[in-house]
Amino acid sequence: MGKDRNFRPDPNNNPYRVKQTPSTPKGTFIDFNTRRICPACGLDIKITHNFCKRCGVDLSTIEPIGNDEISKQLAITAITDPDPEVRKEAVDTLGDFGDEKVLGVLTYVLLNDPDEHVRKEAADELGDLHHPYSLDSFTKALKDESPLVRKEAIEGLKKIKKKIKPKDLDEGKPESRKDKEDKPKPEETTEERDTDML
Ligand SMILES: [Zn+2]
Repeated sequence: MGKDRNFRPDPNNNPYRVKQTPSTPKGTFIDFNTRRICPACGLDIKITHNFCKRCGVDLSTIEPIGNDEISKQLAITAITDPDPEVRKEAVDTLGDFGDEKVLGVLTYVLLNDPDEHVRKEAADELGDLHHPYSLDSFTKALKDESPLVRKEAIEGLKKIKKKIKPKDLDEGKPESRKDKEDKPKPEETTEERDTDML
C-alpha cells in the first residue's frame, strides 16, 4: 500500500505463470449490487436468493456485502486486484470488520485465489470469524495444493469446533430446516469476569 504501482501484469502473457497456478485472479467480475457469494460453498448467486442454489444453506440472516459501500469496494479489490499483496491486505481488512457479510467474499478468495498467501489469509480470517458455514470450505481447503493453506484450514476447523456447540453446526443447512421453529435461542452464559481484561 502507498506505493505507486504502474506495472500491471498481463494475465495472458505473464512470465511468472506456473502451470495450474495462474498468478492473477481469473478476472471474474462479480457485481455485488446484484450478486452475492454463498459463504458456505463460495458460489456466486443472485442477491435476491435466500438459499444457495448449490449447497442449499439459508442466507436470509446474512446481509449481502453489496449493501455496504466500503465493504463492497474492498470485496472487489480482494477479488480483482492484480497484486496479491493488495488482495491480501483487502482480505485482512475485511476480516477485521468482523461482520458476517464478509464471509462470502472470504470464502470465494479461499477457494479461488491463485496466490497461496492470499488464500491462507482468507482462511485465517474465516477462522477468526468462526462461522459454522465455513466448515465446508475449510474441508475443501484441506485439499489445497499449498501446505500453507492446508495448515490454516486445519487451524480454522479447530477454531470453529472450539467456539460452536455441536447442535449449532447444522443450523441453516437444508437437513436442519425441517424441524426449524421460532424457538428462542438459549441465553448465552457469559461467565467472563472483568478481572484481567483491559
Ligand atoms: Zn452454497
